[in-house]
Amino acid sequence: MKTKPLFIVLSAPSGCGKSTLIDMLLQEYSDIVYSISCTTREPRGEEEDGLDYHFLTKERFEELLKENAFIEHALVHGNYYGTLKSPISEVLAEGNSMILDIDVQGAAKVRDYVRSLPNTDAMKIGYVDIFINPPSLEELRDRLVGRGTDSPQTIEKRLMNAEGEMARAGEYMYRVTNDDLSMCYKRLCDLIDALSGRM
Ligand code: 5GP
Repeated sequence: MKTKPLFIVLSAPSGCGKSTLIDMLLQEYSDIVYSISCTTREPRGEEEDGLDYHFLTKERFEELLKENAFIEHALVHGNYYGTLKSPISEVLAEGNSMILDIDVQGAAKVRDYVRSLPNTDAMKIGYVDIFINPPSLEELRDRLVGRGTDSPQTIEKRLMNAEGEMARAGEYMYRVTNDDLSMCYKRLCDLIDALSGRM
């Protein structure tokens, strides 16, 4: 079935199940491609170039910056991170959809960029941004504690960040609450199906 190629931007505070939801979408929808960011930081552990990130030298990243090759970029703890424009355009031109996993600040930059594009641009035509909300900050705290991977200080920091991000959920076209993973996933699929004309 021919569907409308979407440019999906997904944001969620940490602990909201965003990675799980994206993995589920990628398994189910063979025509959705995950956007791989570029970074100048060193690979960690099992990370692979071209899979987890495109690992670039600072010089190469700065060259690409000069060429205006990024839809958005940020400096995080002294390392550059950015999303290239060309893979998004290529995926959409092939009739597939692209999904971008990015924080609220990065999403705002992408939104501004997309707004500046002509109405005929595939990125603008297919653009949709979605915010995944936790059911509540209390529930998010319970989940982060239950995950057992973060120290109490890190959890407090994540919760502060989450509160700040949730305050900006209104900037998004759609908000989906992850109160129950399978329900949230279904709502996400219904939204994508409706927007891409899959139903
Ligand atoms: P990490 O080095 O732990 O993989 O990521 C560090 C931070 O960089 C995270 O907050 C992550 O969301 C952010 N990040 C990863 N890729 C991008 C990107 O393409 N653009 C922006 N603005 N931030 C990114």
